[in-house]
Amino acid sequence: MVAGMVAGRLALVTGAGSGIGRATCQILSREGAIVIAADRNYEAAVETIKTHTALASGSNEADHMAVELDVANPKSVQNILQTAIKQYKAPPTIIVNSAGITRDNWLLKLSEEDYDSVLNINLKGTFLVMQTFSRAMTEAGLPGSIINISSIIGKYGNMGQTNYSASKAGVIAMTQSAAKELGKYNIRVNVVLPGFIDTPMVKTVPEKVQQAILKQVPLGRLGRPSELAEVIAFLSSDKSSFMTGASVDVTGGF
Ligand code: NAP
Repeated sequence: MVAGMVAGRLALVTGAGSGIGRATCQILSREGAIVIAADRNYEAAVETIKTHTALASGSNEADHMAVELDVANPKSVQNILQTAIKQYKAPPTIIVNSAGITRDNWLLKLSEEDYDSVLNINLKGTFLVMQTFSRAMTEAGLPGSIINISSIIGKYGNMGQTNYSASKAGVIAMTQSAAKELGKYNIRVNVVLPGFIDTPMVKTVPEKVQQAILKQVPLGRLGRPSELAEVIAFLSSDKSSFMTGASVDVTGGF
């Protein structure tokens, strides 16, 4: 029998081709889950399954699956649900919404296009995935756990990120509302607020700004993607069985 906090459960992780999503696939598979790694970059999702999931956990690569998904496209989200049900005969009951982008600019210069793309992927994408998969869980009569990824910027704001901060504040509020609606189905919905984590996303922040940010982090360093993934695994598992609608800061104290 497979051991682990989420042994035998089926998990869908979006944004699984990089950073926090990739680390989450690794930790969830270490904890016994079967993982569907979904990313708009299919090759990156395949790499996650090959190198970071199966090999790392000692599980069988064929148990897991990589899929191409654009979270902002309702048809693409629906396709992945159908693919999952065809392959595993049931919908995933752990959903991790890690797909996200930044398109930073000053408020006075931000284009409508960059505003829309960030809101479409970060907020509407989280909504579409959450709605599609929670509906499938209720139809199948299965309990589940949804973990959304916001940002500490969604709570405090940040210069150059009016679009991003709005999308991430939206994810926090949407999580709280969804938790209220889905509790009666025993589907828990929680949100994680990362601080500054060492992933390709943070590499777009200029070095000078990174140094200034680090001065405000009591632990004095960037977080590791795995440090987020451990919290996400806890929220996925029955160890957090009385937590829903909660916002969890993982920021090194920032
Ligand atoms: P990352 O390394 O850039 O990974 C995000 C992944 O999501 C990338 O593979 C990206 O593909 C993919 N993606 C983007 N748009 C997508 C879409 N429409 N459909 C499916 N996949 C899509 O970023 P990360 O740092 O791991 O961030 C993960 C989550 O944590 C994001 O929601 C982010 O906002 C949040 N977060 C991160 C930090 C941090 O410091 N890193 C802090 C707070 C919150 P592309 O490479 O093609 O865009």
